[in-house]
Amino acid sequence: MPVDLPPIDEVVTFLEDLVAFPSVALTPNVDLIAHVEDLLRPYCTDIVLTHDETETKANLFATIGPAADGGVMLAGHSDVVPVDPDDWATPPFVATRLGDRIYGRGTADMKGFVACALALVPRWAALDLVRPVHVALTFDEEDGFHGAPILIDSLAGTPRPAAAIVGEPTGLQLIGAHKGCYEYTTTVTGMNGHSSRPTEAVSAVHHATRWISALLDLDAELAGRAQADSRFEPPHTTTNVGVVGGGLARCTVAGECSFEWEMRPVQSGDAAFVKERMAAVEAKLLAEMRAVHPEAAIETEAVCEIDGLEWVDASPALDLMRSLLGGDPPVGVVAYGTEAGLYQAAGIPSVVWGPGDIAVAHRPDEFVEVGDLEACLAVLARLGDQLTR
Ligand SMILES: [Zn+2]
Repeated sequence: MPVDLPPIDEVVTFLEDLVAFPSVALTPNVDLIAHVEDLLRPYCTDIVLTHDETETKANLFATIGPAADGGVMLAGHSDVVPVDPDDWATPPFVATRLGDRIYGRGTADMKGFVACALALVPRWAALDLVRPVHVALTFDEEDGFHGAPILIDSLAGTPRPAAAIVGEPTGLQLIGAHKGCYEYTTTVTGMNGHSSRPTEAVSAVHHATRWISALLDLDAELAGRAQADSRFEPPHTTTNVGVVGGGLARCTVAGECSFEWEMRPVQSGDAAFVKERMAAVEAKLLAEMRAVHPEAAIETEAVCEIDGLEWVDASPALDLMRSLLGGDPPVGVVAYGTEAGLYQAAGIPSVVWGPGDIAVAHRPDEFVEVGDLEACLAVLARLGDQLTR
């Protein structure tokens, strides 16, 4: 059964309320989640909240309709990336409509999608749903994907959604696959000393640069490992060292150096390949370092290891989107990571599709077009048809 489209002003109001919560990743989000829970409570058959160990951050998983398998999960993250208000023409945590755009942090990534879902929930709840709609909202997606794994654990033994729509800002283009996102911080501990006597010390900066060079030298091999029919651009797994810091002064041998790096695997085997190669490089460097200073160390901390959304030709999630969008829409791939890879790995077929442009996300003056919100609303409203038969 079709549902009446909510007026766009209703969506905008929900969006204004969500943007007003400065839910920057790694900071508490329980106020935002409590607000959404209050909105959803009258329409839900079940709402499950799960928390991090500090209890200041929460995921929400709401069910509208019967506790049955085969529902559709609308998945979003509640957090946003940080802002520097000086770079913004409008206050970043005030949703500000200027013409056909609504500006504010998170309007595109991805509170606009969440606002559309919230506006539709009462309409879906009024239907005689045979299968449920689920609204999933996570914390800390933008910095380590800490929330989604906890939410996924809590789904064990509960009715299984047949598909997830992860509403990241794809400009309403259907995305069927994305690269993985593996992020690390590596710390090299050497021994400081006077730079006039370098052989009596162990430079952490010098050894870090050799480690980094070895990582960059893997690029050609990673390019060679790409599948011939890779849908990605570039087609292969890439690496990047984004931040390096170490040492005290020009005339001292650096005792410590750490660097932040990532890889974006197109296939899970590539991550293992990089790790194996770097373990061999590391063993050689450590042997040299420890010959001078036995306490020398190279330690790598994983910030996150998020597998990509792998391409699946026969995907129930793609089938769902084809029926919602009508016709045979093109299916793209992207190089950025989302929670869709985690949901897919947990057995929930997933696609990425949502309002807003990824090019304005994570930047000052982020915005979403009102037209995108209207189009998103119209497509999601058709879920009513899907889930009543
Ligand atoms: Zn996002």
